[in-house]
Amino acid sequence: MTFNFLVLFFTALFAGGLAYFIPSWEERYFKLVLVFAGSYLFAITVLHILPELFVESSDPTKMGFYILLGFLLQQILALLSTGVEHGHIHHPDHQHNGMQVGIWTIMIGLFLHAFLEGTLLTEDGSLAGHLHEHEEHVGHGHHHHHGSNNLLLGILLHKGPEAFALVAVLMASLKKRWVFALLVVFAFASPLGMVLSNYMYESNILGREGLNVFYGMVAGGFLHISTTIFFESSPDHRFYLNKVLISILAFGLAVLLEMLV
Ligand SMILES: [Zn+2]
Ligand SMILES: [Zn+2]
Repeated sequence: MTFNFLVLFFTALFAGGLAYFIPSWEERYFKLVLVFAGSYLFAITVLHILPELFVESSDPTKMGFYILLGFLLQQILALLSTGVEHGHIHHPDHQHNGMQVGIWTIMIGLFLHAFLEGTLLTEDGSLAGHLHEHEEHVGHGHHHHHGSNNLLLGILLHKGPEAFALVAVLMASLKKRWVFALLVVFAFASPLGMVLSNYMYESNILGREGLNVFYGMVAGGFLHISTTIFFESSPDHRFYLNKVLISILAFGLAVLLEMLV
């Protein structure tokens, strides 16, 4: 839990910091990293999250409904955040009045998304129940979940471009120290979501069914984010061999790690 908290926080801080200290970043390389992370997120969603949700759900149709709901919610959150979570970088330089509003809606949309995302890592929830092998005991009562570390890796890979895009967008209109303050706020979002859902689950405020609602909605959000990355990476419907190769590489790695860890 502490490990997850720190690794989530510092991945966001570090990746955001890259854009902070290297303002003249190369869009081309960012796009490739984004496609890799998006492909990995898609693979994790399809290979790990969705199968486990449907297998563990007492009502698979209901689970499908939560996923649809999460997809729609992400569509709304993306309107607020201007798509920062799927690596969409807008440069709102030539606006005067709507500026502050823009930044707050971006922060609110992105914070809500990242907060929800953190709930996936609830301990003893079905998805990340056994993050550490040494916690496994024979007769512990839970069955083993493969690939929990892979889930964390997928989230971290997605977290990187997300934080990077946030800083790149904020840098266009804010002073550096304000950008850093907002980056720290954002970096806390997923860890807070994890801690809060964990607390609510352990103190029985949130039951397994309630947790499943969150899981389904996050999975739907991931489907939205990762597919949007695919579409926006080739806006003119051209075939980009390097992007396809990167997708294949990400899929292959996700499959491999899903089997190994
Ligand atoms: Zn977009
Ligand atoms: Zn995210």
